Amino acid sequence: MKRDIHLVMLLLLIVGSSLASLTLWKVVASRDRVLEEADIHGLNLTQALATYSEGIVRQSSLLLLGLVERLETEGSEPAQIQRLTALVDRQEPLMPQLSGVTIYDKHGHWLMSSNRPIPVGANSSDRAYFIHHRDDPSREPFIGPPIRSRSNQEWVMTVSRRFNDAHGEFAGVVAVTLGVENFLRLFGKIDIGQEGAIGLSYTDGTLLVRYPFREQDMGRNFSQSPIYKKFLVDKSVGTTSYTSSLDGVERLYAFRKSDTLPLITTVALGKREVLAAWRLEAMLSIGVVTSLLGLTGIIGWLLIRDIRRRIQVEGELRVTQQQLLCSNQQLELLAMKDSLTGLANRRCFDETLAIEARRAQREGTTLALLMIDLDYFKLYNDSLGHVAGDACLQSVGRVLEACVRRPSDLVARYGGEEIAVILPNTDAEGAGAVAQLILTRLEQLNIPHGASPFGRVSVSVGIASAMGAEQEPYQRLIKAADRALYSAKSAGRNRFAID
Ligand code: GH3
Ligand code: MG
Ligand code: MG
Repeated sequence: MKRDIHLVMLLLLIVGSSLASLTLWKVVASRDRVLEEADIHGLNLTQALATYSEGIVRQSSLLLLGLVERLETEGSEPAQIQRLTALVDRQEPLMPQLSGVTIYDKHGHWLMSSNRPIPVGANSSDRAYFIHHRDDPSREPFIGPPIRSRSNQEWVMTVSRRFNDAHGEFAGVVAVTLGVENFLRLFGKIDIGQEGAIGLSYTDGTLLVRYPFREQDMGRNFSQSPIYKKFLVDKSVGTTSYTSSLDGVERLYAFRKSDTLPLITTVALGKREVLAAWRLEAMLSIGVVTSLLGLTGIIGWLLIRDIRRRIQVEGELRVTQQQLLCSNQQLELLAMKDSLTGLANRRCFDETLAIEARRAQREGTTLALLMIDLDYFKLYNDSLGHVAGDACLQSVGRVLEACVRRPSDLVARYGGEEIAVILPNTDAEGAGAVAQLILTRLEQLNIPHGASPFGRVSVSVGIASAMGAEQEPYQRLIKAADRALYSAKSAGRNRFAID
């Protein structure tokens, strides 16, 4: 039973721990999978956005290349500028991302501006892209930091090229302005959640565009930020997770450096948002498993309680059974005892005599029987009363028990005031010795009996004995003892006679 409890406990432990570890493993694995999928999704987005941005910049630099070619071969006289204006006007509808094309002379004065009149005295010699081309003879296009347009105050990015005069000296700059608004419109169509962000930066860490748009971010340089230092310096593509120091939101970043242009596209997704569906599913799984474990625990507890109760009941049953056995033994003993004298009763005498007779026959030994009858006992009762008679019987019984010492000997109340003594393995001589001892002891005890000629209580004893072979039926032995008793009585009582 105790083993059953241990088995149930072990089973519960195994079921519980396997269910818990399986669920934990599933929850952790699905979280990793969700984060991995978010990284892949982010990288795919950076690829698409980088291609888009590169395409615009490349188209712009192609347009600029054509304009530089013309300016360098045909010069920048008003007539040529007019022709270029017409050319740009025709090309602009083909490039909707273009906010405008501007041509500056070597002092930064505006020579041409597409789609809008030149502001009076406009000069851009202080702009970063102008300073870059003036000081750097390179013919490569330059992507400038975002600036506020001087004509319409909108945020724009610039892609610019330098053009030279016939002597190869700096003659001016042609710049294409790309409205940040155009990028934001596209980025806004992409679902990146509430906490997501898309950024386009220059490789030096200057932010060109960020969606969602934040005025304070425009032109910001994040080259000192940990994420830039840690990842963007020596990797061209990758993912990382980082908690923003600005808003405290942890984001999953996917970044990609352009192969051909100094641009970095970044897509950031809010980690909390990415994991929202997973969290719900995990909580559901944990909830279901916890309920299951709880249910299993309750069933197990009930089972164990049931087993314990059964153990207790069985224990109680065993105790009751033991008590019953004891009671039975006591009952059996009582059934064999005489209630007045405490000696063995007639039933016990009959059974014992039968057993001993069989044993004597089997073993070939001698069995002796004493039949003892109190002398003048009727008179004793008559003179002293039955209560005194009962007490006298008890005293005689004690004397008789004291006279037989072998464990196999039995003193039994045969009936009324007759007492029998079974003496196994005893011959007539031995039985005579016992009878004499009884007579002597009674004499010594000297219970007064006024109505008896002896003046005290005495007994007559009839002795019979037989060898094993002569035992059957053992009633003969009783009859013989009875005869001897009669002889003793006839001979004057207070004596024994042998049949
Ligand atoms: P005898 O010497 O010839 O044996 O004379 P007796 O008076 O003893 O005669 P008998 O054996 O016939 O007497 C039996 C008497 O024993 C009858 C009854 O008064 C008494 N007696 C038998 N059983 C009991 C008992 O359980 N209690 C008491 N107090 N007396 C008993
Ligand atoms: Mg009698
Ligand atoms: Mg008598």
